[in-house]
Amino acid sequence: MTQANGHGLYLRIPFCHQRCHFCAFYLEIHQTRAAEEFLSSLLSEVRLYGERHPFGPEPLDSIYFGGGTPTTLTPQQLTTVLSAARDTFGLAQDAEVSVEAHPGSVTSEGLSQLRRAGFTRISFGAESMDQDELHRVGRPGSVLNTVEAVRAAREAGFIDINLDLMYGLPGQTIESWARSLRHTIALAPTHLSCYALTVEEGTHLQTAIQRGTIAAPDDALQNEMDDLAEEILNRAGYSRYEISNYSRPGFASRHNRLHWTGGHYLGLGPSAQSYIEGRRFGNVSNLAAYNRALRNRTLPVTECEQLTRADDICERVVFGLRMTDGISLKDTGAMASAALTQKVDDLMAEEILERSGERVRLTAGGRRYADSVAVALLASLESRRHGLPPLDFQVRQREK
Ligand code: SF4
Repeated sequence: MTQANGHGLYLRIPFCHQRCHFCAFYLEIHQTRAAEEFLSSLLSEVRLYGERHPFGPEPLDSIYFGGGTPTTLTPQQLTTVLSAARDTFGLAQDAEVSVEAHPGSVTSEGLSQLRRAGFTRISFGAESMDQDELHRVGRPGSVLNTVEAVRAAREAGFIDINLDLMYGLPGQTIESWARSLRHTIALAPTHLSCYALTVEEGTHLQTAIQRGTIAAPDDALQNEMDDLAEEILNRAGYSRYEISNYSRPGFASRHNRLHWTGGHYLGLGPSAQSYIEGRRFGNVSNLAAYNRALRNRTLPVTECEQLTRADDICERVVFGLRMTDGISLKDTGAMASAALTQKVDDLMAEEILERSGERVRLTAGGRRYADSVAVALLASLESRRHGLPPLDFQVRQREK
């Protein structure tokens, strides 16, 4: 398996200006006062972890501002958080510092401020380059916003630019998907994420499908769109390095790789998740409770579990298999589990997995079943993971 990519910080900004019809994330509609209070809480959370040194002496390899929509905060607010994180945890010289942005929520001046502050990568949620498709899923903003945001980001000095696209949108056809891909390629991003639309519980989209006003995504069409994306993007010089992600050479997202290769990451902000040395923990998904905990100088952690070595290995296999170059069973320690090895053999016999030298990866067909493969592999182990008291976070001293 590709070696774990060090240490990352994820900052979850829980605001959007409105909710897209397909979105089930925890979020609040942006309000200036609420954003100011959140900012103060987030800085307190940075300080509290700063006292605990979760990564020991190692500086961060990546910082990722996700959401929600981070650019609902002002460039000055984002800069304040980045400075606090850098001062508190340290930042490797060549670190990747990413921010997700809605194309309609950025300005040329704001992008220049972010670039000057040290952000190295920007990720725009374009979703589609077809105005009607955006409209049908309640996505605010326009195709023109995306075109102008990419141009402004480049003028501001951003080289590493990602665009998110979705396929299987209501009314989307194979032809309109091809047009979206080609239009996106013409903007020359360094990275593209292509996500299949999924229908999440409790969303406006689910209600519309149940009422029959919108058709449910068609699996066969989505598979065709996935194949087409790979074909068109490969021809344009992008390589698929993960199920949903493509990049120009040298521009695979470090933050993404860290998640899939067993790297350590600390998540701050409401509902953010963390994984450090076999321990998974998550923050409360409620802004008021998050603010309250931090006013009381306590960490807003609600769930915490210590993975057994077997669970940890299995998760590395499951996440690693999302990468197109797969995993080395030996390096992950997977050979130590007879049940896991047997399951991998079974999946190879079914041509869901394939071996290439020392590495095992999903076949092109097997990629469609990545989630089922994950469930099957996890089920092969009798889990012995155990819960921990929510705030039992081990305090480690930074070495001098
Ligand atoms: S912008 Fe992103 S986080 Fe916000 S509602 Fe839309 S999909 Fe959800």
